[in-house]
Amino acid sequence: MTMMMMMNRREEVDSRLLRLCRALPKVELHAHLNGCVRPSTLLELAEECSRRGLLSLSDFQAAVIVKEDRSMEECFQLFGLIHLLTTDHCILTRITKEVIEDFAAENVVYLELRTTPKRNEAVGMTKRSYVEAVLAGIKAASTELSLDSYFDHKEDNIECPSQRYQRKANPQIHVRLLLSIDRRETLEAAMETVHLAWEMRDLGVVGVDLSGNPCIGDWETFLPALKWARQHGLPITLHCGEVPNPREVEAMLAFQPERVGHACFLESPDLSTLLANRIPVEICLTSNLLTNSVQRVRDHHFGALYNANHPVVLCTDDPGVFSISLSYEYALVSTHFGLSSLELLHLSRNAIEFTFAEDRLKQMLQSFFDGAKYAAECQCFQFSGVP
Ligand SMILES: [Zn+2]
Repeated sequence: MTMMMMMNRREEVDSRLLRLCRALPKVELHAHLNGCVRPSTLLELAEECSRRGLLSLSDFQAAVIVKEDRSMEECFQLFGLIHLLTTDHCILTRITKEVIEDFAAENVVYLELRTTPKRNEAVGMTKRSYVEAVLAGIKAASTELSLDSYFDHKEDNIECPSQRYQRKANPQIHVRLLLSIDRRETLEAAMETVHLAWEMRDLGVVGVDLSGNPCIGDWETFLPALKWARQHGLPITLHCGEVPNPREVEAMLAFQPERVGHACFLESPDLSTLLANRIPVEICLTSNLLTNSVQRVRDHHFGALYNANHPVVLCTDDPGVFSISLSYEYALVSTHFGLSSLELLHLSRNAIEFTFAEDRLKQMLQSFFDGAKYAAECQCFQFSGVP
């Protein structure tokens, strides 16, 4: 999310359509851990810290945490509070686990969560211990929410996969982690992050992201770190074109990242480069509306990219802070761009190809979706009425 003007512009969607989109298996590739924290957890943690004298929580701030339609200032208050609270390893582990549970409850079957490893010497936190705390949260959630049981019995074709999927008491999800470089950081700090990503590649870290306030810093500062990541086989996604900056957008696209996030402000030659190189775009529709990068849903570049058959993936960016879900983003796209239930399913399945997951997992997920596609056609998902 950027520091630009934000307005309360969440669009209403039909509740029945939202329910159907919730039933759709989905893939989330652009979600910042801090932006996904449950408000109820945030309130509980803030009250606890307030009792211990670690911060002073006013009634006004408590009200901001639980309300849904936050103003720009209130969203940034929330980010500030989350930033304060994530200096504790146990809290990091807890919020990671809960974030995964929340995505699983939305029928997200593959999640690439991203976070900027932070160092805080006052509390004995290093970038490494930060990532370890997040990975502990992923592990804690994964022991409860695993697709493995489904794939272990895939030869059993008595019931269609989606029926089995829906029958499970717990939703099932696979999670991988991207380590983000913040644009406020130094090259040295960025190098530490990419080295960590490489060292932890067997523990669930699958790539590197560049994010943070797009009005701060020069992305080329981090080029040596990004090149090092690439040389060591780590895929890269860049927050690109969040604000008008043609020189940076051109250079970023010339770097040919494996994916880009947002891509709101692309001039004609840059758009041609994007299309020619088929660089997948992580679409964060509500985020772009709230930060005023796009004025109306129907004007969003999702439409042009989708109609050009360009690779796009619907994502949420900061669902906890924006009070949205990935299901809501699918419903929004269906409403404004006229995608049918089957087109939504294809959109979701196509995202698997653009994940940074290992090939075996991609194939398993594709098999699962093919079962789900069958399910949609045989109305296991009851999708026939979606416009
Ligand atoms: Zn983002």
